[in-house]
Amino acid sequence: MSELNLQELKEKLLAERETLINKLKGNDLSIDDSETPDPVDLAVRNYSKNVMLAVSENESRQLVLIDEALLRLEDEEYGTCQNCEKDINPKRLNAIPWARYCLDCQQLLEQGLLEED
Ligand SMILES: [Zn+2]
Repeated sequence: MSELNLQELKEKLLAERETLINKLKGNDLSIDDSETPDPVDLAVRNYSKNVMLAVSENESRQLVLIDEALLRLEDEEYGTCQNCEKDINPKRLNAIPWARYCLDCQQLLEQGLLEED
């Protein structure tokens, strides 16, 4: 854990959280359909609405991961794989501060071999 600067990671997480929240708020504004629609415009808008909803789903999910990571920081459990309980590689955490799993378990997850709680 000595390679990790927890304060710095916390700041990264908080900054990322802020960005996501702003994006999600921005999406809400841009899918406001209260103006009079013309049919072509409407089709375009429905399309981008779907794209944006998909994006917000990813973003909401990431927001949950970030909140969890912040909680783990508070509990001083940060940096431990949520599956095998080994320390997560500090380089990985510096790149993805909200990572829940070590690289091995992440690969298992991506192959569908690990069930998320
Ligand atoms: Zn693991």
